[in-house]
Amino acid sequence: MADVDIDIKDSPFVESPVVPEQFDEDHVIKFRCHKDIECFNACCRNIDIMLTPYDIIRLKQRLGLTSSEFLKKYTYPFDFGKNSLVGVKMEPVEGCTACQFMTDEGCSVYEDRPTSCRYYPVGLLSTRRADENVDRASYALVQEDHCKGHFEEREITIGDYRKEQGVEEYDDHGRAWRQLVLKMKSAGPSIGSLSKTSLQFFFMASYDIDRFREFIKSEGFGATFQIDDELRQKLYEDDLELMRFGDRMIRQIMFGEETLAKKDDAYDQLVSRREEQRRIRDELEAEDSSDDT
Ligand code: SF4
Ligand code: SF4
Repeated sequence: MADVDIDIKDSPFVESPVVPEQFDEDHVIKFRCHKDIECFNACCRNIDIMLTPYDIIRLKQRLGLTSSEFLKKYTYPFDFGKNSLVGVKMEPVEGCTACQFMTDEGCSVYEDRPTSCRYYPVGLLSTRRADENVDRASYALVQEDHCKGHFEEREITIGDYRKEQGVEEYDDHGRAWRQLVLKMKSAGPSIGSLSKTSLQFFFMASYDIDRFREFIKSEGFGATFQIDDELRQKLYEDDLELMRFGDRMIRQIMFGEETLAKKDDAYDQLVSRREEQRRIRDELEAEDSSDDT
């Protein structure tokens, strides 16, 4: 199964499975996938699936794992292209290309399968003009030789196929992040080269949501940002609230879109915390060296 977040311009070759046309929601496709089809599971035997933050939340909740545990066991990072952005893809079964969730009966996480799996064989084409803040959606069709669903006698519009596959909810929860990534990819020199810390923050707030929650609970965060108790409680308990908050923080850090108030004495507190850390470190080093003598 190819990753469906496609840039159609990247597929100019005649042998590409991507039909070189962009469609809207009203376009009718001929497609049906079902358990008795001869190619059942073929798409899940050869995966290339990028995950969104919402995909990760759904899967880690389903599996009863923390985001860190999920990322370690089921994903690997990849270079997103411009600005050293890092994305996350599903890690196949060791030594082959099959999805770790594939079983003889089909997908073992079907109700929580990622956006790409829901869309297939349709590809979402998100584009953003430099002078706009929103992305525009159009669609492509992926026709791979192994997929026999294209020969089934069912016609359906892309819009109805999205509804049938439960894509709308995934797109709603993924939209802000998708726009953020498009903005980062297209921002180029306006944000300069991103620091390692900013990129690590992007990774944590986007994908490793439970570690991000620990950050929100940390003394350093509390000393820097002003948030009310109601929001704080939601962030401690609700992954989706935290995902949206992560988006705000990334925008504030990387694009200066200030939506989070900082405490007036945040800088003084930061300096005194650093001094305290330095003092403790110096004391420990002094103790170590006196033990050695
Ligand atoms: S998550 Fe499910 S549908 Fe997606 S590739 Fe894996 S087994 Fe197939
Ligand atoms: S019809 Fe296509 S999507 Fe369905 S199982 Fe076969 S290869 Fe996968």
